[in-house]
Amino acid sequence: MKKHNFYAGPSILSQYAIRNTADAVINFADMGLSLLEISHRSKQFQAVVDEATALFKELLDIPEGYSVLFLGGGASLQFAMVPMNLLAKKAAYLDTGVWANKAIKEAKLFGDVDVVASSKDKNYNYIPRDYTVPADVDYFHYTSNNTIYGTEIRKDPEVGVRLVADMSSDIFTRPVDVSKYDLIYGGAQKNIAPSGVTFVIVRDDALGHVDRVLPTMLNYKTHIDKGSMFNTPPVLPIFTALQTLRYYKELGGVKALEKLDLEKAETLYNAIDSSKMFQATIPNHEDRSIMNVCFVMKPEYAELEKPFFDFATENGMVGIKGHRSVGGFRASLYNALPLESVKALVACMKEFEAKH
Ligand SMILES: *Cc1c(COP(=O)(O)O)cnc(C)c1O
Repeated sequence: MKKHNFYAGPSILSQYAIRNTADAVINFADMGLSLLEISHRSKQFQAVVDEATALFKELLDIPEGYSVLFLGGGASLQFAMVPMNLLAKKAAYLDTGVWANKAIKEAKLFGDVDVVASSKDKNYNYIPRDYTVPADVDYFHYTSNNTIYGTEIRKDPEVGVRLVADMSSDIFTRPVDVSKYDLIYGGAQKNIAPSGVTFVIVRDDALGHVDRVLPTMLNYKTHIDKGSMFNTPPVLPIFTALQTLRYYKELGGVKALEKLDLEKAETLYNAIDSSKMFQATIPNHEDRSIMNVCFVMKPEYAELEKPFFDFATENGMVGIKGHRSVGGFRASLYNALPLESVKALVACMKEFEAKH
């Protein structure tokens, strides 16, 4: 039976990226060797890094003066690397969930952290709006898409200071005005590649303003100077990332991806909102993530949660169990997920509803 992959991360990749990676694992760039056994310093792999970097810049319209890096350590290492490299005195953070909190915790190790607003009072089911960011902070950090709760900030915040964002789960889903940012980072395992590589987009002039000692590997400058090749980078995930970026370009870039993503999200949210049995966990439509759609059974149908999960599983739906801190269901609709999979999930919900 056809499987529909709604995993939150690692998550669905395009068949194009998977097949090309599989081929390269057998024979990379006609070298007669596997991608798994070649030197990262070979000219064939250098070409991969160069093209991936160039496509990143092209697709996101990254201005001059920025570097794109492919690093290890996950988005979680960036929670520490960002303040280590950018926080001289004080930074502002927006608390919109688990990942934002982890970033806040690390930032506090390096300076004053002003948490300007939090949606913790309602289990993070909305995006705080009434807050001001002090003008004297080094940057304002926010999480653009809250993978666990299903909320998203789809507009670059207008807060009067330099921005830093964790875009792990919604990079390449909308045009971003990169010039407003000092740094954008994310784990690649949600919209780009298998786990193991982290992307960082950093404004070169934002660096060098802190006077703490930076370990070599944790200094962005090290990686900028060596073009992400200071040490052995994650070769396979970078190769897959390149395939994904080529695929994105072929589809028409971020504007085209956004259109597809909006259609998928609208299809699912409409089905949830018009259902007698299910309800979305994010009440305000503007705050709803188009990547991670969270929903639960209405209270009067609570006992049908497990039966629906089993029914959906029997019908090929994979990865729709909600995160333990929200419960219910979460369908992740990353770029590689076809509309057809969303329609299959909706059909499954309707069929189940008709039966009960
Ligand atoms: C998954 C995720 C992370 C964690 O990424 P790792 O690469 O596992 O460290 C951080 N932030 C967001 C928004 C995420 O979705």
